[in-house]
Amino acid sequence: MASITLKDIVKRYGDGFLAVDDVSLDIADGEFVILVGPSGSGKSTVLRMIVGLEDITAGELDIDGERVNEKAPRDRDLAMVFQNYALYPHLTVAENIAFPLRLAKGKHSEQEIRDKVENAADLLDLREHLDRKPANLSGGQRQRVAMGRAIVRDAKAFLFDEPLSNLDAKLRGQTRTEIARLQRRLGTTTVYVTHDQTEAMTLGDRVAVLRRGVLQQVASPRGLYEQP
Ligand code: ADP
Ligand code: ADP
Repeated sequence: MASITLKDIVKRYGDGFLAVDDVSLDIADGEFVILVGPSGSGKSTVLRMIVGLEDITAGELDIDGERVNEKAPRDRDLAMVFQNYALYPHLTVAENIAFPLRLAKGKHSEQEIRDKVENAADLLDLREHLDRKPANLSGGQRQRVAMGRAIVRDAKAFLFDEPLSNLDAKLRGQTRTEIARLQRRLGTTTVYVTHDQTEAMTLGDRVAVLRRGVLQQVASPRGLYEQP
C-alpha cells in the first residue's frame, strides 16, 4: 500500500496540446479516489502518468514520498486494470491471473503462485472458472480476471481506467459493488477513472473533478453535493 502525491503535474502532448494543467492531489495510503470528468478532460492521461505509461511534462509524482517521475512502469509496483481487460485469449483464467508472477522470473515458487491464484480466485468468486479461456467468460467474469491479475501482484495501488464501460447496466452495478467490496477488504490505495456519475458518487472516499485538464474540486461524494 502506498500514498500517491501529484505536485503541479502538467502534461503537454507532442503536438503542443495541454491535456493536464497543473494538477496537485494527495492520495493517502489505503484511500479510494475517483477521478471523474467528461470525455477528453485528461483523466486517462493522469492515470497513465501515475502508472508510467506517459511521460510527465512538468511537476513531481511521488509514491510513498519517493519521486518516481523517471521510474519505469514495472519499478513503480502499481497494478492497472483496463476497460478492455487486456486478457490473453490463449491462456486459461488461472494462467492469466498468474501471468504477472511468471513474468517476474524465478521470484515466486510454483506453490506460491498456486496459493496466490487460488486466493485471488476465492476473493473474486472465480474458483469454478480457473480452467476456462476468456472467450468462454461473461464480461463481468473477464473484468474479475483482470482484477485478479492486479491482486496477485501485491501492488502498492490499483489504477482503474473506466473498468465498467464495456459491461451492460446490470453487470455494471454488480461489478461496481464487487470493486467497492474488494477495495475495502484489501484496503489497497485505489485511483479509479470514470465519466459515470453513479460510480463517482458511490464508490470512493473522495472524488476529484477534472475539466479540460484542470482539477476543479476534490471532495467526499457527500461534500460534492453540498458545495455550491
Ligand atoms: P479522458 O480520459 O478524460 O477522456 P484523455 O486523458 O484521454 O481524456 O485525453 C485528454 C485530452 O488529451 C484529449 O483532448 C485528448 O484528445 C488528448 N490526447 C490524449 N492522448 C493524446 C496524444 N497521445 N496526443 C495528443 N493528444 C492526446
Ligand atoms: P479513452 O476513451 O480511454 O480516453 P481514446 O479513445 O480517447 O481513449 O484514445 C485512445 C488512444 O488514442 C489513447 O492511447 C490516447 O492517448 C490516444 N489519443 C487520444 N486522443 C489523441 C489525439 N488527439 N492525438 C493522438 N492520440 C490520441
